[in-house]
This record gives sequence, structure tokens and C-alpha cells, in this order.
Amino acid sequence: MTGAGSAALRLGIDLGGTKIAGIALAPGDRVASERRMPTPSQDYAATLEAIAEMIAGLERDGGARGSVGVGMPGSLSPVTGSMQNANSTWLNGRPFARDLEARLGRRVRLANDANCFALSEAADGAGEGARSVFGVILGTGCGGGLVLDGRLIDGPNSIGGEWGHNPLPWAGAEEHPGPLCWCGRRGCIETWLSGPGLEADHTRATGSQIGCEEIAKAARSGDAAARATLARHADRLARGLAHVVNIFDPEVIVLGGGLSKLMHLYQELPDGIGAHVFADRPHVSLKPPRWGDASGVRGAARLWPPNEAAG
Ligand SMILES: [Zn+2]
Repeated sequence: MTGAGSAALRLGIDLGGTKIAGIALAPGDRVASERRMPTPSQDYAATLEAIAEMIAGLERDGGARGSVGVGMPGSLSPVTGSMQNANSTWLNGRPFARDLEARLGRRVRLANDANCFALSEAADGAGEGARSVFGVILGTGCGGGLVLDGRLIDGPNSIGGEWGHNPLPWAGAEEHPGPLCWCGRRGCIETWLSGPGLEADHTRATGSQIGCEEIAKAARSGDAAARATLARHADRLARGLAHVVNIFDPEVIVLGGGLSKLMHLYQELPDGIGAHVFADRPHVSLKPPRWGDASGVRGAARLWPPNEAAG
């Protein structure tokens, strides 16, 4: 089965640093197969081969050929066509999409993990039924993806929705110039709002080095310093998201990544965001994810809409 519009399956691959996950969606978005395998570490050729093996397995399970979408932590440079910013560093500088297309004998779509997350949650997750969705990953980093009418907004720089390396908006004097970011700038949103950013803020305030889960646990048991840390984080997150609302005005914001488990955010943030939104009676809908980590692979499969899937 070949040609546009005739793919019986939509295949999604989530290429992580330690594991590769795969899914096959049959018509009607029924899950026809799911597979997992370890990522061959430090070996580019073996990584391509492992993905090809995964695709072959998914197609055997599903009994048909499929379109291929791949989610990964980095992105393709529109300038060079090579991979950039992947934490599976053996992929960086390689023409990954071209090599994978040659190996699989078909076109492949790639997107970063935040875009796959946003697409998945917009399709049949927390943003189902909404026209516009901003999906945010708050984990080791701070990524984002924008979906409008079921499609990713991805411009000439392939950075649509990437808000993590904008400066923290409405920053106070004590937030200037802000922590140094790995990207070379100071005070990026990611340095405040990611898991490591939250932990570093707690350390600066208290001298104690503990993880996000411990901070949340301490806050629940009444620890004033931990509560203050979470309050600063929620306030900064509200300001960061208000900036996005003032530009894109999404019907739904979905949080993902480790910090999406901080349930106080869903109570506190809508009002906190609203305080900075340029509207008389702001309406902000903020939701926890439906699919969580599984959104990576589910969103990758949806990089090809059913009517375009070129199997
Ligand atoms: Zn940065």
C-alpha cells in the first residue's frame, strides 16, 4: 500500500536517550500495536537500524504499512537540515531525517517532544475539542507547542511555541539579571520554571539542596520555606503563561512533564495568569495532561493527519 492518503496505519516513534517507544494507530485511532526497545547508546547507525526494526515490528503487528512520525528531544536545523540540541548527543550534526527516510524508503516527519505532547493532548487528551491548545512541558527543561485546528504551528525557524528561552516577564528587581542558562542568556523562563530551576531557586533561598518532590512534600506538611518556593514558582509560571495568552490566547493550556503533578498549580494559576492578561474578564483554562509521557509517542503518530499520511 503506497501513496498519499492510503496509509492504513499511522506510526509514531518516541526517540529517547535510553529507550525507543513505538505505537501504531489504526483508522479511528485504535491502538494496533505498542513496542519498546533500548536506544543504542552513542551509535548513530545502530539508532537508525533500531528505528527501522521498530517500524517493521509495528507494521507486522498492524498488518499494514504506515506513515512515520518521530518525536525526539532536539530539533532539525532548518538551515543545515542536521539535528541540533538533542541530548542524545550522538545524533547532533547528523542529517537524521534524510538518513531515516533513506533507510525506511518513505518520508518522515520529526518534531520535538513538546510539540508531540501538544498535538497528542489536543487530539484526544486534555485539550480534546478545543480549537487552540498550548502544551507545556515543565521537566528537566521548559518546552512548549502550539496547536490550532488540530495542527502544529511550526514556522520557518521550527520553534513555534518555544517559550522557554524568552526572559521571565514582569520580572522584579530581585529577579534581575536572573540565573545563567545553558543557552548563554540570563534569566530565561526555563531557568526559573523547569524542575532544576525550581530546585535552584529553593537552594538560593534556603541553602538546602532537595528535589522537587521533597519540596512539594515539605510544603504539604507545612514547611514555610518550601511553601514560599512553590508560591514564587507559581507566580513566575503565571507570568510566563500570561505572556503566551496575550499572544496566542489558547482555549486550553495543558501542563506536562514532572511538574505537571503539582496539583496546586491548577487551582492557583488561572487567577494568577488572569491578573496579567490584557482582558477585562480573562478566561484561562489550565488542565493536567491525560496521556502524560505517552503523549510523546501518540503525538508523533499524529504528525501525519489521516488524510495526508503517506505510507
Ligand atoms: Zn536559555
